Amino acid sequence: MSDISRPIVGHEKISQFLQKSLDQNKLAHAYLFSGQEHLGKTLLAENFIASVLCADYHKANGLTIKSIPCGECSFCLQLKKGIHPDVYFLKKEEEKKNISVEQVREMKKFLGLTSFLNSYRFALVENAEILSEGAQNALLKILEEPGDKVILILLVSDHNLLVPTIVSRCQLIRFYPLSDDKIYDHLVTLGAKREQAKILTAACHGQIGQAINYFQNPELFSARLEKTKENLSLFNENLAERFKLIGEMLKSDEEDLNFGFSDELNLWQLILRDILLCQNNVAGLITNLHFEKEINTLADKYSRAKIMAALSKVNEIKKYLAFNVNQRLAAENLILTL
Ligand SMILES: [Zn+2]
Repeated sequence: MSDISRPIVGHEKISQFLQKSLDQNKLAHAYLFSGQEHLGKTLLAENFIASVLCADYHKANGLTIKSIPCGECSFCLQLKKGIHPDVYFLKKEEEKKNISVEQVREMKKFLGLTSFLNSYRFALVENAEILSEGAQNALLKILEEPGDKVILILLVSDHNLLVPTIVSRCQLIRFYPLSDDKIYDHLVTLGAKREQAKILTAACHGQIGQAINYFQNPELFSARLEKTKENLSLFNENLAERFKLIGEMLKSDEEDLNFGFSDELNLWQLILRDILLCQNNVAGLITNLHFEKEINTLADKYSRAKIMAALSKVNEIKKYLAFNVNQRLAAENLILTL
């Protein structure tokens, strides 16, 4: 469990809704937090779990609650250390592609036990979109008969990736990207210089977690700039050279645990989007502020139709990613559209 005292930026309506459900004792058996990565879903889920358990602790001991989670009671302390016996974390095992049916069965066993502390039992499922088909069915069984004082929280990048019967049994909560102002202000409170905050905010498209990550680990942002530079160079080479570069890029992605083909596609999407923005004279909105000059040059070099075609190709490839698409072939196809 991460630090529950970290501030939650944005998502005020969601926090208020969950707080109200807790105050009125109207907690659902299952919540589905849906929204792209790095918006703060995990932090909010952990904070919610802490709030419920902390409130429970205070009630059981006849104590008045000043603010929840208080960060001081024994439940909060256990949560901070990640050792609260009534909270189960389910995520993909390393080296595996999916969350397996066996893992969901283990979780079911845990949820079936009575609480050690006579409190709620929680399960937090990360990346629910990678539950295998069998695992989704097993999860559905739990959702059909969750048992008393059991609360599941599923985190998913897009709830449409789950079978509809799971979605319909959960309280769906959608997460949206944060406004640039909120991210910028938060980075400044963390100590970022104005120019740096501006660049990181533009680079992260409402994904505050990513912006904080880049601020706290500058080497990650440098790596991203390096990758973007590589991708930009593709636009300026002849076809033979482009194919060669693509081969090299995909090879180095294979060896990189933190950067894969889908990240490469995301970069292409951002670059193409930036070029379109420049062509439409809204360069102020571009993502890759570091490469404003290069992007402008490309905006003059390529027709709008070509960029649009490439962009729709990227979107198409992204859709097929889950089906083991041949990456090299897909990338080469994309390059041919330019
Ligand atoms: Zn507490």
